[in-house]
Amino acid sequence: MGIVYSRILLKLSGEALMGNLGYGIDPGVVQGIAQQVADVVASGVQVAIVVGGGNIFRGVKAASAGMDRATADYVGMIATVMNAITLQDALEQAGVPTRVQTAIAMQEVAEPYIRRRAIRHLEKKRVVIFGAGSGNPFFTTDTTAALRAAEINAEVIFKATKVDGVYDSDPQVNPNARRYQSLTYGHVLSQDLRVMDSTAIALCKENNIPIIVFDLSVADNIRRAVLGEKIGTIVGGSCEII
Ligand code: UDP
Repeated sequence: MGIVYSRILLKLSGEALMGNLGYGIDPGVVQGIAQQVADVVASGVQVAIVVGGGNIFRGVKAASAGMDRATADYVGMIATVMNAITLQDALEQAGVPTRVQTAIAMQEVAEPYIRRRAIRHLEKKRVVIFGAGSGNPFFTTDTTAALRAAEINAEVIFKATKVDGVYDSDPQVNPNARRYQSLTYGHVLSQDLRVMDSTAIALCKENNIPIIVFDLSVADNIRRAVLGEKIGTIVGGSCEII
């Protein structure tokens, strides 16, 4: 089985870096993710990453506790930069040249986001990590993932989560819940399935970018997805349930 995708955008939530900790970053988990990314980069796949910040700070949550929403969102965006730099360190220790580009300028620690430069890095087989979300409050890093994927012409978004795909009901509540093998964007939106927020799904729909939702904790899942193995759920096709 050969490689199906040559340029991917991997969306990592902040919680993916947290492992079983209640807060922050688990270095062992980050090393594991870096190794999975290093493996696919070694086989010639171009990898861009958008990383979230929910393991450190969430704007909506702080706003519900009384903080000004836009201000809280800026703090959330800065939190994603901590994750981006940590991930860069792990990737470089795994031997992968990596650049961080931020949507809020932080020139002492990262490059500013420059689309054409990001593409050039990818062509040179460097991993590019996009930090600081979209640079705009009231958005999410899922929407950023859809936006950057469209901008850099990524063929697919890999949405790494803690579950092995999208179900028709909550598998932790309903033992008969069934997993979708594939789903349309319309179905995700109309059924309000929590794949990504609706802005992100709409952007993917408009630009025809498929989303593969899969469990990151299973070692080798990124490689399997790159090889086109049917892991998790793919959004963008027809509706098929397993
Ligand atoms: N955020 C933002 N604009 C963006 C991306 C993120 O304001 O374009 C803020 C927002 O406050 C969000 C926080 O950054 O709560 C962390 O991002 P997100 O919640 O998407 O991270 P994840 O859920 O992936 O860990």
